[in-house]
Amino acid sequence: MRERSVWERACGLTRTVVEGVDFDEAAGAVIVSVRPAAKAMNRCGRCGRKSPRFDQGDGRRRWRALDLGSTKVFVEASAPRVRCRAHGPTVAQVPWARHGAGHTRDFDDQAAWLAVHVSKTAVVELLRIAWRTVGSIITRVSADIDANVDRLDGLTRIGIDEISYKRGYRYLTVVVDHDTGRLVWAGVGRDEATLERFFDELGAERCAAITHVTADAADWIAHVVARRAPQAVKCADPFHVVMWATDALDEVRRQAWNDARAVARTEPKRRPGRPRADAAPRPGHERARALKHARYALWKNPENLTERQQVKLAWIARTDPRLHRAYLLKEGLRTVFALKGDAGKQALDQWISWARRCRIPAFVKLQRSIVRHRAAIDATLDHGLSNALIESTNTKIRLLTRIAFGFHNPEALIALAMLALGHQPPALPGRQ
Ligand SMILES: [Zn+2]
Repeated sequence: MRERSVWERACGLTRTVVEGVDFDEAAGAVIVSVRPAAKAMNRCGRCGRKSPRFDQGDGRRRWRALDLGSTKVFVEASAPRVRCRAHGPTVAQVPWARHGAGHTRDFDDQAAWLAVHVSKTAVVELLRIAWRTVGSIITRVSADIDANVDRLDGLTRIGIDEISYKRGYRYLTVVVDHDTGRLVWAGVGRDEATLERFFDELGAERCAAITHVTADAADWIAHVVARRAPQAVKCADPFHVVMWATDALDEVRRQAWNDARAVARTEPKRRPGRPRADAAPRPGHERARALKHARYALWKNPENLTERQQVKLAWIARTDPRLHRAYLLKEGLRTVFALKGDAGKQALDQWISWARRCRIPAFVKLQRSIVRHRAAIDATLDHGLSNALIESTNTKIRLLTRIAFGFHNPEALIALAMLALGHQPPALPGRQ
């Protein structure tokens, strides 16, 4: 094999002619000088159409390629501009890189694969690039997949939700396929206009094919769904309904904690230093401290409680029947969704009459909103839509929002989420 073809193979180049190879001492890198093969020359960088040459552009350029061993490699070539009929003067397409990229296609693909499989630090250190650069790379790779794969095909049962990123004041609207558990769409914003964009992309025919939509009780979601997919059965997202109960429970806990603190204020102050053995007992203080940390014991599903949390729960049952009742009410609501179907509906009837008479304002109020959303909750119980799926996707996106800190824009976060949780995971270069 001739030396040039060896370099073609080593760098994974196709439709490309290697003109020479050199080592750039200053850059500490192998420089592979190339040009597109005749057939790949003079094509518009955006649409690929053969176009007449316009000018020399900015002269020669370098694209970072995959390392050879531990040595960096750059592909170098002229980057002339062509005049496309549709796009005007545009930098010509090159076979080895995406339009506007500073890295080769293989480098992009490897970075995208790593970004969804290993830690942020590992990607940055292994590839020797900034995390922001990873953000631009995955945005390109995801756009490429979008251009070739229709992620919205075959949707019938979907879940719509909002996810906060950037410490709670910015939001993404996300759409999940209930049948596959995959993320199918994400957009910046949480309002009717954002969700309208999803239905626009879906198109009238596929909107009509949607049979079920789960969502929390947000009006903006309900309004858009009623307009764009009126035939779909509206289902309440069990994840959110149980979350309402968790919030109500926390309200009761906070109240118990405040009551204990009020008692504590009437108790003698203790001098700093080690408490004396004959010091007066201060039950209010102890109670307030225990309740402050009881949050997780009350929140968690009983099967996941640690031994300490179980002890705490038993202590609550003994000392604060009202708070314990609130806990049982929360658990009762969770059971409704575990039962599903008619058994679930019967259990919900019982739960409602229990909550109505429980004399805990937070749960009486919760009971009212459950009654108001009863039709949507019944639909969920009837159709047995799994909440586990959307809840786990939700959790994973929240993790990604943390990883995506440092990206320039939310588009990179969306790209990362689509690559990690969408239908089409990124492939390693050369192994499709
Ligand atoms: Zn063009």
